Amino acid sequence: MKPKTNQSNQKTRQRTALILKRLEQSIPDADTALAYETPFQLLIATILSAQCTDVRVNQVTPKLFKTFPGPKDFIQGDPELVIELIRSTGFFNNKAKNIIAASRQLIELHDGKVPENLEDLVSLPGVGRKTANVVLGTAFGRPSVVVDTHVRRVSNRLGLSKSSDPEKIEHDLMCLLPEKKWTSGAHRLLLHGRYTCKARKPMCDQCVLADLCPSVA
Ligand code: SF4
Repeated sequence: MKPKTNQSNQKTRQRTALILKRLEQSIPDADTALAYETPFQLLIATILSAQCTDVRVNQVTPKLFKTFPGPKDFIQGDPELVIELIRSTGFFNNKAKNIIAASRQLIELHDGKVPENLEDLVSLPGVGRKTANVVLGTAFGRPSVVVDTHVRRVSNRLGLSKSSDPEKIEHDLMCLLPEKKWTSGAHRLLLHGRYTCKARKPMCDQCVLADLCPSVA
């Protein structure tokens, strides 16, 4: 539900609407690049994507999901095999531990299903607000704003949020974006940050938002 706000800065709202429109033209496809068939698979793929590229995760998950199709398979299977299959995504010991513990919690508390609310999702081991919002927005189609390092940087540079706190940025974007565009809008900001508004060298001379950006160099 859209939060109530007194941050009714009309100019920022109008500028945000223009930013969204431009990004919709420059990035027509705002779907996740992670390959998945079920909410559970997206949950696991998103856990694996921490500190790893989507391309690498997609190389790993076909064999992983074939070997371990659901949460029951992860808790009954060999943890060493899980580690082996996800090794190339980095931080494999922690990721394997979290995937198995999250699978156990899904079986014990949620009938083996991925819950469709933020509170239950963030209570799963290895699942933070960002991962939970990915699952809610992408797998369940519930409007949600994912704030990662790219969204944080781009939101700050574009003057959509002054905060460095992801939760506050999430709230600021929820106030500025129409609810039906929370998921796609935040994902477009993410992709814009990944490919154009890069951390070290933002490509302002090629940026479609240059005339709308207070940080243009
Ligand atoms: S103009 Fe530069 S700083 Fe602003 S959004 Fe574009 S790339 Fe980023």
